[in-house]
Amino acid sequence: MNTVVHSTHSRASGRDDFAVVGGGLCGRLVAWLLAGAGRRVALYDRGDAAGTQSAAWVAAAMLAPLAEAASAELLITELGAASLERWPGFIADMPEPVFFQRHGTLVVWHAGDRAEAPLFERRLRANAPSELFQDGFVKLSGAQVTAAEPALGTRFPQGWLLPNEGQLDNRQVLTALAAGLAERNVDLHWNTSVDTPPDARFVIDCRGLGGKPAWPALRGVRGEVARVHAPGIGLTRPVRLLHPRYPLYIAPKQDDLYVIGATEVEGEDMSPVTVRSALELLSAAFAVHPGFGEARILELNSQCRPTLPDHRPAIVWDGARTLRVNGLYRHGYMIAPEVADSARALAEALLGGVISDPDSFDDWRRQARWSALLRCEHAAPVL
Ligand SMILES: Cc1cc2nc3c(=O)[nH]c(=O)nc-3n(C[C@H](O)[C@H](O)[C@H](O)COP(=O)(O)OP(=O)(O)OC[C@H]3O[C@@H](n4cnc5c(N)ncnc54)[C@H](O)[C@@H]3O)c2cc1C
Repeated sequence: MNTVVHSTHSRASGRDDFAVVGGGLCGRLVAWLLAGAGRRVALYDRGDAAGTQSAAWVAAAMLAPLAEAASAELLITELGAASLERWPGFIADMPEPVFFQRHGTLVVWHAGDRAEAPLFERRLRANAPSELFQDGFVKLSGAQVTAAEPALGTRFPQGWLLPNEGQLDNRQVLTALAAGLAERNVDLHWNTSVDTPPDARFVIDCRGLGGKPAWPALRGVRGEVARVHAPGIGLTRPVRLLHPRYPLYIAPKQDDLYVIGATEVEGEDMSPVTVRSALELLSAAFAVHPGFGEARILELNSQCRPTLPDHRPAIVWDGARTLRVNGLYRHGYMIAPEVADSARALAEALLGGVISDPDSFDDWRRQARWSALLRCEHAAPVL
């Protein structure tokens, strides 16, 4: 059921409660949640309503907290697990349909790369909460891999099914949120680059890597993906291939569309995909299923993941009227519901005067579920 919450203020009078700058994934969600709570919100993005300027446009949008534990710490996997539970409710409240699937991730490796498997499993067990393993990690024989994903035939001698993981269609989320923002009466400024704070009671900076001028520690981590149309292959869930040089995933979306990704290269290079990366991505897909040899390449895309030094997201209050939400790195879709809702809650506490100085911020922070994400620039460091 769709929920429509109109602003408690008329657009004609007074200042906005919040100006959200940057309407990629995070900014759209924060603005949509605040407007849903009855706040008067404006949103500014230098790109279009489709979201083509954002990292969110390029992403594969896998919601894989356990598989990501191979490289992510416990906080990220916990945020991911909690967010995965919230996506269906969020999507139900959006005015347009979004492909969402919770059908698991399949992890496979070729016989020659079997040494990768115990390393990967060890990292998962070190970084993920033990609850995620209960019914969430199933070892498969070759025959069971075939039964789980018949398209793979007998190519893989073993595998793991992580049955609770999910994925969604990133571009449908961006479009549905754009419609949801309009429905919730958010004042939308697409194709508007903002470098000085707009007039509003509070500004929420969600510019992703575009926020670097205000946050020099931010860096970009380049990622490249291929989007291909491959009728007749019929994978039903994301497949991750363990490989010493080309670890990759293939995420099947609707209508025989597959997102094959992703490289991870330090640097803020937004130039087109290199030949080397295209060869690696497409060869690895071909090795998973030779049917990809006949796939049609729809797009080769690159973007940069906005990343902080500790690879964690952060929500920072400047002690005055600006909140910055950033650092979602390679987990934006996986953790966005909890991060955006934490930002929403903090923004509401500022607007309502519950937080007015570093002491009241600290009190508020102590009771917050994801207190590790929250910082006040003027507060003493919290150990
Ligand atoms: C190749 C790749 C694959 C990925 N795969 C996954 C995945 O499978 N699962 C997952 O969970 N995450 C994935 N991600 C990560 C995810 O896309 C990001 O974490 C997420 O998009 C970050 O959201 P954000 O809103 O902070 O930044 P963005 O989505 O980049 O949005 C920032 C917005 O700010 C706007 N902006 C910037 N500067 C200004 C300005 N001066 N004025 C106005 N607007 C401005 C931009 O136009 C943009 O729309 C992937 C990312 C990449 C690059």
